[in-house]
Amino acid sequence: MKITNVETLYLRQPEVKELCDSGQDALIVRVTTDAGITGIGEVDSSPLAVKGVIEGPFSHTTATGLKHVLIGEDPFQTEFLWHKMYRANIYAGRRGIGIHAMSGIDLALWDIKGKALGLPVWKLLGGGFHNKLRCYASSLFGPTPAATRDLARRFRDQGFEAVKFGWDPMGRDAKTDVELVRQGRKGLGDDADLLIDAGLVWDAKTALQRARAFEEFNIFWLEEPLRPDDYEGYRKLSEATSVRIAAGEEESNRLSFLELMDRGKIDVVQIDLTRVGGFTEAMKIASLAYDRGLMVANHGFTTYINVTAALHFLNSIPNALIVEFVAEEGTNLRERITRQRIRAQDGYLAIPDAPGLGIDLDDSGVEALRVA
Ligand SMILES: [Mg+2]
Repeated sequence: MKITNVETLYLRQPEVKELCDSGQDALIVRVTTDAGITGIGEVDSSPLAVKGVIEGPFSHTTATGLKHVLIGEDPFQTEFLWHKMYRANIYAGRRGIGIHAMSGIDLALWDIKGKALGLPVWKLLGGGFHNKLRCYASSLFGPTPAATRDLARRFRDQGFEAVKFGWDPMGRDAKTDVELVRQGRKGLGDDADLLIDAGLVWDAKTALQRARAFEEFNIFWLEEPLRPDDYEGYRKLSEATSVRIAAGEEESNRLSFLELMDRGKIDVVQIDLTRVGGFTEAMKIASLAYDRGLMVANHGFTTYINVTAALHFLNSIPNALIVEFVAEEGTNLRERITRQRIRAQDGYLAIPDAPGLGIDLDDSGVEALRVA
């Protein structure tokens, strides 16, 4: 089997609000082969920059569009192709957008392998740890503490036993910060897990003050309180609080994760399959975490392709903690671009068992929302 084409599809809702909601647009990668098998993947990054990384021309041997080096290759050789792509774009691609772009391609290649063999990706990865995985409903905070309480109640009524709130208005002032968590807990009740995603807002000492204030509300983890490069801050915070510290969604490739684990001493390693280098790299990061006694969760705030990839991955490692799941349905882009729409049942997600990723594009939704 040979790769015949690599395409990027940029999808965007007609209205994109200036919010920290990365589900309003999507960059999909589609890889086709001469066997008639097509694989899909996704990249959650700066969409048109990723498009350029993939579709750009050969410039020179270490600055080459990724599509250029993939045409004619065998999609089964995922490890080899990962390194071929890495080498071909090493000037621009050792971290960040280059690795992000490789992620979408790697997911699509594993999708092709699974479809060709008639097996789900988790089986190709050697997994099978679970039949279903516990998820948390992932949401932005409401605009006020009271609105956050109402949101928490709604998720609890939908059957979720874990809920996360994140980003703005957290970080505005001490009183609001604590009140957001207090009201989140109030809406959720005492018998569900409350996760807090601060959204990169504090220095280490402020983060420690907040972690101590939040202890009263028994939070499951405190996510990304600090700038992603503040490894010393992460270490000081982690060593001084009993609250689990989670981070990783800003990282791409395993060396950056090693910094967070070994210098930053974080507790939960959050891996976004659409950013870290796909399954090929995510499995290595999970092993590094396992060796350090750390649990792994996915990160994903975009489409059901990302969630599906995460389920295959988390079902293939011994240290999966919980699945991030955006439970907002409505008219969002994610509801329109894949044929399968993933739903939680009593706070759990089923492990996919169709060949490959087990998720397909909805051609009419893609056509309607494609802008590039
Ligand atoms: Mg986050």
